[in-house]
Amino acid sequence: MNIRINGIDCEAQPGEFILDIARRNNIHIPTLCHHEALAGEARCRLCIVEVIEKGRSKVVASCVYPVTGEIEVATDSEKIRALRKTLLMLLLARTPHNETIQKLAREYGVTQVTRFAGDPDEECVLCNLCVRACEQLGAGAIFTVNRGITKKVATLFEEPAEECIGCAACAAVCPAGAIKVLEEDGKRIIWNREFEMAACSRCGELFATAEQLAFYNTRLNVDLGKYGGDRLCENCRQKRAVELASVLPPAPPR
Ligand code: SF4
Repeated sequence: MNIRINGIDCEAQPGEFILDIARRNNIHIPTLCHHEALAGEARCRLCIVEVIEKGRSKVVASCVYPVTGEIEVATDSEKIRALRKTLLMLLLARTPHNETIQKLAREYGVTQVTRFAGDPDEECVLCNLCVRACEQLGAGAIFTVNRGITKKVATLFEEPAEECIGCAACAAVCPAGAIKVLEEDGKRIIWNREFEMAACSRCGELFATAEQLAFYNTRLNVDLGKYGGDRLCENCRQKRAVELASVLPPAPPR
């Protein structure tokens, strides 16, 4: 099946989301709340596009809009740019000093908004990616709390969370760099909790927290010791895989 995005013919599978098809074809659609490892949630709405189907036009969130037939898509029409501009105006009012939002706002010609001025130190765009990454991992240490303009992401009672393993997955997926991770003197501080870092048994690099490794061992049933009796960072794990591949006999022909 083919769909047309910005006049370009793009191959699509039934049920595929417009955003995925566009990205596969190097067509840019801005997003904040989208991450390839997590299902789309259409929270930030920046990925809106115009879909023309059977002569009718509608605006949809491309990250959750599955393709079921031949359609035309406009990712950057006048209507879409005007709507994105409004969304960015609100985001900029919420996070006036956030560099990611400032950059996007500049691209759409949005200037500082004084009418809805909020907390000048706010960095979070409430995309929910951090909460979902933590949930997916199984730790479930952070949530959205409160409502309206006081809504935010926090640990339970805003105390250092017992469930948190200090993996920093939440910070890694945050599109706005709003979650601060401090690493120094063999410690990582995140969500007001301090974690001891564990060293890679091969290169000595501090690569994970002790709680993170224990979590993988027990909750996810991954015995790190099983693959060499040691703890290896990502780099050393890859190097070891290459070394093993070079000494293993070739697989017999089928
Ligand atoms: S650092 Fe804590 S809050 Fe963040 S993803 Fe890991 S477990 Fe969850």
